[in-house]
Amino acid sequence: MSKSGNRPINPLSGARVTVNLSALADNWSYLNAESGAAECAAVVKADSYGTGVEPTVVALQQAGCNTFFVALPEEGVAVRRVSPNAVIYVLNGLFPGVESLLASAQLRPVLSSLDEVRDWASYCSDTGDRLPAALHAETGINRLGMRREDLEYLAAQDDLLGAFAPTLLMGHLACADEPDHPMNAQQLAEFEAIRRAYPGLPCSLANSSGIFLGEAYRFDLVRPGIALFGGNPTPGNPNPMKTVAYLDARVMQVRTVPAGETVGYGANRTLKRETRLAVIAAGYADGYKRMASNTDSQTGGVAYHKGQAVPLLGRVSMDQITLDATDSPDLQRGSLIELLGDHAIVDDVAKACGTISYEILTNLGHRYERVYIDRHSVVD
Ligand SMILES: *Cc1c(COP(=O)(O)O)cnc(C)c1O
Repeated sequence: MSKSGNRPINPLSGARVTVNLSALADNWSYLNAESGAAECAAVVKADSYGTGVEPTVVALQQAGCNTFFVALPEEGVAVRRVSPNAVIYVLNGLFPGVESLLASAQLRPVLSSLDEVRDWASYCSDTGDRLPAALHAETGINRLGMRREDLEYLAAQDDLLGAFAPTLLMGHLACADEPDHPMNAQQLAEFEAIRRAYPGLPCSLANSSGIFLGEAYRFDLVRPGIALFGGNPTPGNPNPMKTVAYLDARVMQVRTVPAGETVGYGANRTLKRETRLAVIAAGYADGYKRMASNTDSQTGGVAYHKGQAVPLLGRVSMDQITLDATDSPDLQRGSLIELLGDHAIVDDVAKACGTISYEILTNLGHRYERVYIDRHSVVD
């Protein structure tokens, strides 16, 4: 059961997401301390990794965070609504025609091509405002960004660079969660080479895991996302982050079924013993991964009741999941089942579905009741 699990769930809802804003604030403070002299920003794209952008940005701000990164202009507008003074960067850069919207919400595009640089420079020249923007360096991930030759060319274009106000040079690591991967040092070397063309411009390379690669990777500003929301930035080592997102689903029905029968669509999970089934009100329409299905050929996921493991049984369906409650005698109609939390750890749940914590959190569905708790409302 989650930290808010002894509150009654909204009778209209099948399941509840509880976001612990104090844990989020503590996670930011921890990463800020780990970042030494570098500024610690917060990446809040995709609705703050599925946890809800507005309350989380307010909590992060109260913790001391002043710089936010989002993917889309619209996400930046949402952050601006609750954060009149923060610095907000839009990672996906400058979509054609979006210049005046960015300017009016004081959003900074992360410019990822010479075309984007030219568009932003010309908008700034036309309006007479030298508006801020980041320059995105491509150092090996081959996603967005300008390669070294483009950035070295740009560094000599006083007309372009003088038209706007470059405020940050950033790159992005492909393998930061694998500290021994040779790509990390290669990308660092490429980033170091590029930044020589931009003396004095603040630099940023590290995501959550990048912070833990050492001081050389931290530069002036770090950009954690997943670690703020409880994902382990140091896979293979204990998770230093606190749990932020809890997911609890209600039990709708408990029933005992004889051995030999099957459970769920496809009839591909045969009961080996007489089994007490519990059916809960969540499914893949809520973003709970169908890959967590437990079949005769696949182990599948695990939920928890009062800290005790309750395995999934059969396929995850759209609106229901069936559990094996045989060994949980006090689980009954109305009980709450932890699908994410201090026992159903997001990284473990992700592993059971063959994915990563990011996908689990960003898929948290829209039908869930959502509750935000902080130090004053936490009930253990
Ligand atoms: C998503 C993202 C981040 C945050 O990454 P995490 O691994 O979640 O910490 C940082 N920088 C860029 C460019 C990103 O796209």
